[in-house]
Amino acid sequence: MATPTVPIMERGEGVWAVTEAGERYLDAVSGTFNLPLGYSHPAVVDAVVAQARRAMHVGSSMASPLKEEFTRKLAALAPAGLDAVWLRDITGSTAVECAVRITQKATGRPGVLTFFYGHHGQTLYTTGLAGPAFRREAFPATSSIPAAVRAPAPYCLRCFYDAQPATCGVKCVDKIDEILTYAATSRIACLIVEPVFGNGGNIVPPAAFFPKIRRFCSERGILLVADEVQTGLGRTGHMFASVALGLDPDIIVLAKGLGGCGVPLAAVLMRGELDVLERHEHSFTSGAHLLGLAAGIATLEVISSPSFLADVRRRGRLLGERLRRLSHRHRGIGEVRGLGLMWGLEMVTVDGGRDVERANRIVEVARDRHRLLLRTSQYGRGNVVKVRPALVASEAELDEIVDRLDAVLGETAE
Ligand code: PMP
Repeated sequence: MATPTVPIMERGEGVWAVTEAGERYLDAVSGTFNLPLGYSHPAVVDAVVAQARRAMHVGSSMASPLKEEFTRKLAALAPAGLDAVWLRDITGSTAVECAVRITQKATGRPGVLTFFYGHHGQTLYTTGLAGPAFRREAFPATSSIPAAVRAPAPYCLRCFYDAQPATCGVKCVDKIDEILTYAATSRIACLIVEPVFGNGGNIVPPAAFFPKIRRFCSERGILLVADEVQTGLGRTGHMFASVALGLDPDIIVLAKGLGGCGVPLAAVLMRGELDVLERHEHSFTSGAHLLGLAAGIATLEVISSPSFLADVRRRGRLLGERLRRLSHRHRGIGEVRGLGLMWGLEMVTVDGGRDVERANRIVEVARDRHRLLLRTSQYGRGNVVKVRPALVASEAELDEIVDRLDAVLGETAE
């Protein structure tokens, strides 16, 4: 299999990835969106080093003060009512599976409902929760094995029902009943939704979508799971996007940014009465790893410090405004959408089609000529260029990202 030429990074400083030769790359996507505090935030480094000297790991059957402290801190930040924490996962994929297990056990129902353009991980099971585009592209052999019923996503630019967002009344939610027969509805344990569809193309649903989905689930006894693996912990300018947007979920799944600088850690937050799993029913050898927990505690402290999130929102607004201005000056940007520091530029052809080639060229030219790291939404057919810098990126660094992107858009225009 061909391996793309990528720079070999030796270290990182803040939002900068540095090669052995000392070349500095401006990372506009914070690794894989999992470095909210950048590559080596001192609070995270100090916490991990200090913990490593005490003990690197204790078995999942043992208690530890660190597990208790992390659980207490996370529960204190959790939205009202979601104060139970399951802490035995290492990655987002298995944490999503944990959420499914919880809802299946709690409801006695087997089924799961997800959205086209949703993405919930890369294990065999979570791959089956994704929309068909992702499954076909990533795993042709298993593309015919969906693990969930999928509903059309609230993707207004390319509405499945050709509705007008200003007047449609979020018709796509009403249409879910047409996908589920009454008999099937009564067999659905949970609906899983990302508050912003990350890998599907940075799709921001219309505001009315969230309360409507909440009502849809409540009326049918379906538990609502917010997959906040990408959106959680400040990425959208709020601790939990699902809460800020009015989704009011029963369960929130967290991973990616929880370890601050990419230290692996995942957690599931849920309403107390959903804390139904026995310890042995969902557990991994390296789950709740002490180094992850040490990083997690430091991360929660930084993100919950006074004015941190307000400042993410402020810098996010500035970034959004500057990206929108780019779309007025350069051809081929169909939509700029995002929240907080989670933005996407949808690249389109003259007839409005998906310009996957241009998006890929933008990423390559940015990396090779401008030392700017970007990514595409490869799971949403790859025509959205994602811009998601670390939450600690300064205003000057955000400006630098936009300036470099400006040059790249110019160079890839013909
Ligand atoms: N959910 C979402 C929304 C994700 O973006 C991802 C990772 N891309 C996952 C779940 C899976 O997380 P992990 O890669 O840590 O298994």
